[in-house]
Amino acid sequence: MSDNQSVILPEDAPYVNALLLQMIWGIEEVLGTNGLNAVLRASNLNRLIDNPPPNNLESEVQAREYAMLNAAIEEFTGRAGKGMLQRIGRASFRWGIKEQSAVMGLAGIALKALPQRLRKRAILLGIRKGLMDIVEYGLVDVQDKNGVLIYTDYACTICHTRHDEKSICHLYVGTLGEAMAYATGKDFREFDIVETDCRAKGDGFCRFEIRDKA
Ligand SMILES: [Zn+2]
Repeated sequence: MSDNQSVILPEDAPYVNALLLQMIWGIEEVLGTNGLNAVLRASNLNRLIDNPPPNNLESEVQAREYAMLNAAIEEFTGRAGKGMLQRIGRASFRWGIKEQSAVMGLAGIALKALPQRLRKRAILLGIRKGLMDIVEYGLVDVQDKNGVLIYTDYACTICHTRHDEKSICHLYVGTLGEAMAYATGKDFREFDIVETDCRAKGDGFCRFEIRDKA
């Protein structure tokens, strides 16, 4: 896969119910029900208050709505926004594993059968497969460059239609960190994850470099 590759996402691109639901569960766990309702209202998603999307693979929401919800969380939590989004990303991953393994096809990843050194890449490939199977425009690449895992999402929905001078997909950083913890049995803090490129900055993709902390 080449870096010149890019995915043109229409502004009203659809998004999968189960993926928005996963984030909603994560938000409620971290911010509580009142916090969840506040950010739903702030992102014009009042229709989802006490009425979350069903846990299925239909695309009845929009990628833009998923992105706006991310933005609303950042606004709602102010200076803590980045850390809060990472926490929500970690919680979302756990909810995904717990409640959506079958829906997302993650149940098939037999991590325990793999030696420890292969598990991190395996979980990233599992996420890649899940996203590419269920999101019609999903395009993700995973590389291992001398022990640095490079995860690239060419159609990131967290920052869809958003603009910023810096990388803003903090929720993704949290999700990938929790995936590393899940794969290795270590704490997420043992991993250093940096979003080097972000579509919100005008880059062609959102890219994350994942390293073991020394
Ligand atoms: Zn992004």
